[in-house]
Amino acid sequence: MSSIPLGVSIGIFYKFNISHLISVFAWSFSEKTLIDAIQMHGELLSFVFGPVPSRRLGKSLGINNIPPKTCSYSCVYCQLGRTTNLSIERRKFYDPDDIVESLRKKLENFRGKIDYVTFVPDGEPTLDKFIGFEAEAIKQVTDFPLAVLTNSSLLFMEDVRKDLMNFDLVSLKIDAVSERTWKKINRPHPSLSLEEILRGIELFSKNFEGKLITETMLVNGLNSDSSSIREVANFLSKVGPEKAYISVPTRPPAEKWVKPANEEKLVEAHESFEETLGKNKVELLTGYEGPEFHLGGDPAEALLAILAVHPMRIDYAHQAISRMNRSPGEIIGKLIEEEKLKIVKYHGKEFLVRKLAK
Ligand code: SF4
Repeated sequence: MSSIPLGVSIGIFYKFNISHLISVFAWSFSEKTLIDAIQMHGELLSFVFGPVPSRRLGKSLGINNIPPKTCSYSCVYCQLGRTTNLSIERRKFYDPDDIVESLRKKLENFRGKIDYVTFVPDGEPTLDKFIGFEAEAIKQVTDFPLAVLTNSSLLFMEDVRKDLMNFDLVSLKIDAVSERTWKKINRPHPSLSLEEILRGIELFSKNFEGKLITETMLVNGLNSDSSSIREVANFLSKVGPEKAYISVPTRPPAEKWVKPANEEKLVEAHESFEETLGKNKVELLTGYEGPEFHLGGDPAEALLAILAVHPMRIDYAHQAISRMNRSPGEIIGKLIEEEKLKIVKYHGKEFLVRKLAK
């Protein structure tokens, strides 16, 4: 369940000469070969990378506890390419003590501030059957809050739900709640059942006491139609996330034909999710990491920053800019001309939304 570009993840293999790297990739990542490789070469792998900036998590120090493309899904939009090891078997990929030690060492020399230590591997983090142990051990090493980004597919397993209770923040992927759409977009392992997964998500969300957020990736023509959007919105109301994020593919996807949902669909999804979840519970992740919105300063920049997160009714935008003693027509007109934002009609109202990069 990764949001990190492959280049970053390859970067974690420090002290690892290229022939080792090639041979490990060629070995198809069997458990034994990877563990042997680590043991043979002592401190070969670092499992920690970053910190990397994240709109959801602020500044996050990443932990990669899964070999590349070992996942229970093979999402059509995955930025890491097609899944090469499609699996739902929880197992030991690395020595859990090495993962914790790797973080301890990184923190020893780390003087900056981070918001989260985050499990964000090149696959599905809960496939690691020691993730619960690692989370507990990490809590002994640092006071930084601990987060995990999961595709949710193994939450039907009681031990996975229990392991994730050790986290301060859990981000759940929920792209589709209808069998057909789920199979098309997430291309799950054949033994997975969507019904069981959704039940597992509900069970987990009822008992989890940390911060629960969700992410829904909108892919044009797959889950961007009105009924798919409404179905996901209705399901999210049972989950009750603190924040539901809506994203679109912004990096090269596993399948070339994948296209992001358009701005009209983003507005529709944002409004539909807000109707079921409430105000300020929904944010867009459209790839634009602009400056934080702040009153004062440059109103055009401030407007772009807020539109990266929420579509805004055009009349509200006019009022906000007028309060800054600037001309709304001029500023909005210029941003439209520069193709930085566009006007979208939804339910008889006009909204401003950031234009997606082509
Ligand atoms: S296939 Fe899907 S769930 Fe697996 S790493 Fe890629 S985006 Fe995440």
